[in-house]
Amino acid sequence: MAKKIVIVGGGLSGTIVANGLCRQLREELSSGSVTITMLGTSDKHLYQPGLLYIPFGRIRESELFRDQRKVLDRRVPYFIDPAAHIDVEKKTVATKSGKTYAYDFLVVATGSRIRPDIIPGMEEGAHWFYDLDGARKMRDTLQGFQGGKVVVNVNAPHKCPVAPLEVTFMLRDFFAAKGVLDKTEITYTYPIGRLHALEPVAHWAVPEFEKHGIKSEIFFNTKSVDAGSKTITSEEGVTLPYDLLVTIPPHTGHQVITDSDLGKGGWVPTERNTLLREGSSDVFVVGDTTNIPISKAGSTAHFEADTIIDNLSSLIKEGRWARNYDGKVFCFVETGLNSGTYVWFNYTTPPNPGPPSQMIHWFKLAYNRLYWLSARGLL
Ligand SMILES: Cc1cc2nc3c(=O)[nH]c(=O)nc-3n(C[C@H](O)[C@H](O)[C@H](O)COP(=O)(O)OP(=O)(O)OC[C@H]3O[C@@H](n4cnc5c(N)ncnc54)[C@H](O)[C@@H]3O)c2cc1C
Repeated sequence: MAKKIVIVGGGLSGTIVANGLCRQLREELSSGSVTITMLGTSDKHLYQPGLLYIPFGRIRESELFRDQRKVLDRRVPYFIDPAAHIDVEKKTVATKSGKTYAYDFLVVATGSRIRPDIIPGMEEGAHWFYDLDGARKMRDTLQGFQGGKVVVNVNAPHKCPVAPLEVTFMLRDFFAAKGVLDKTEITYTYPIGRLHALEPVAHWAVPEFEKHGIKSEIFFNTKSVDAGSKTITSEEGVTLPYDLLVTIPPHTGHQVITDSDLGKGGWVPTERNTLLREGSSDVFVVGDTTNIPISKAGSTAHFEADTIIDNLSSLIKEGRWARNYDGKVFCFVETGLNSGTYVWFNYTTPPNPGPPSQMIHWFKLAYNRLYWLSARGLL
């Protein structure tokens, strides 16, 4: 009997896992002793980090998308048929169309989703760039913006740990280039008592904010937005007026996770080194959908995917474990429209952002293009 690998989710991590397994299990796929099947939601693959550049007119929309079937190894059948229920006892995945897929190994790669609907008034009163529609609306609003109070409001959990800082610095440069910076005040809100969850990044951001005249409001857990009076209020009782509100909306995991009782909020309890679902030996969890308390980022998902590729192929080929995930994350950080820095860290080494430079900004732009090779497993 062929060993069946089912991958639920055809985004960044699911695609990298599938393509990597195809390379490592070439003979098994040829002989038919292994099959890999992917279930997804769309025929298009979206490069989400590129959304950051849409509001500033710095990327074409067409650069963000590829045909998922072209990004994916041709040996993996891809079905646009979302998983509706995962049964880890029976080892099956039931789909929205009514089909059932049995598996020997399951890879859960369903990611996370923005939930502006959780905060009263947020959908009506706020802009965001975390999906294409939101990023387009923000671009249109920025075109006409003539100065005023700008609030960058951060909610947790959210994917891409540094995107809130990046958009704040990019807004500042955008207003300067537009000639409206002297009529604009930027205030950044953060839910805990510093500017960023990663302490060294928070310390690094303080002088950067001071240098650019960016204000902050910490311990700001968003309670509601009033689109009529243009105010945002925190659970802590602070109300800020705004002319432009840019939010990083709160996130949850996907419905199939909660519907399958696999994890509260859609986050699957995952062992941080093996990336196995807690208590399981045949369900791997990768990317944003894990509950591991590290950054939800594409790079996290990529390094996790590489670990799963090695372990799953080693288990199938030799019946042994290959290696553990060490918590590695690497993120470029835009510090304006023409400068950037980067952070890398793992479970034992904290991040240490360096001085921004134009060179690092160019590296990030180059990576945005190289992503498509990376997703195919060629980089
Ligand atoms: C604006 C923005 C900027 C970012 N910038 C960066 C950055 O600079 N650096 C960085 O490292 N990361 C960045 N990220 C984060 C990065 O994009 C995510 O962390 C990464 O995509 C997570 O990969 P994933 O595979 O877990 O989830 P995704 O890539 O989101 O893939 C999950 C897939 O599962 C599918 N799915 C959901 N439910 C089901 C179901 N029931 N059945 C089948 N399929 C399903 C989804 O449709 C999706 O295709 C950014 C994200 C955004 C939004």
